[in-house]
Amino acid sequence: MINLVLFGPPGAGKGTQSEKLIQKYGFVHISTGDLFRWHTKNDTPLGKRVKEIMNSGALVPDEITIAMLKEELDKNPQAKGFLFDGFPRTVPQAEALDAFMKANGTAIHHVIALEVTEEELRTRIAKRRTIENRADDEEEKLNKRITEYFTKTIHVLPYYKNLGRLNSVHGIGNIDDIFINICTLLDKK
Ligand code: ADP
Repeated sequence: MINLVLFGPPGAGKGTQSEKLIQKYGFVHISTGDLFRWHTKNDTPLGKRVKEIMNSGALVPDEITIAMLKEELDKNPQAKGFLFDGFPRTVPQAEALDAFMKANGTAIHHVIALEVTEEELRTRIAKRRTIENRADDEEEKLNKRITEYFTKTIHVLPYYKNLGRLNSVHGIGNIDDIFINICTLLDKK
């Protein structure tokens, strides 16, 4: 069982690379952003709680996010491996994830950070805005998401670096080239 965290700021290409990785390695994909969007779209009690927060571009509180994640893990006891996309986004989330993995006799084996400049992120999200029409891609909300990333989420990097599990991949350029670089890291160990 191999478990992977794909890490990076909004617009780094986590979703795009996740799809390719799932196809190749058969990971169970856990995207907390997609899960929250599913809940808000279906107007579940959880969806009602997080809708406003998400639309503002802020992070959902750890307590809610961690509980939702645990539920997803419990739904997939047969998983060959998990790919976490958009989680963890804070150090307490990273600690909770390690604890869950340990309790199941496994671990996070790889953390791959996609490195993209802030300028490129803004260009990509402006483009996505015209295609997907996500409420939180609007300029002001995007600024909030980028701020959340650089104030809270960035601290997850030294957490994994200290554990010796962090690798970076240059996230600008050809999608297939980036994918090959990720696969090379995964296949190495
Ligand atoms: P992005 O394009 O910013 O990477 P996501 O689709 O991963 O967006 O997440 C959308 C929103 O869902 C976030 O702005 C946040 O409100 C909420 N969210 C997703 N994952 C988390 C998380 N791990 N912790 C807290 N909030 C989260």
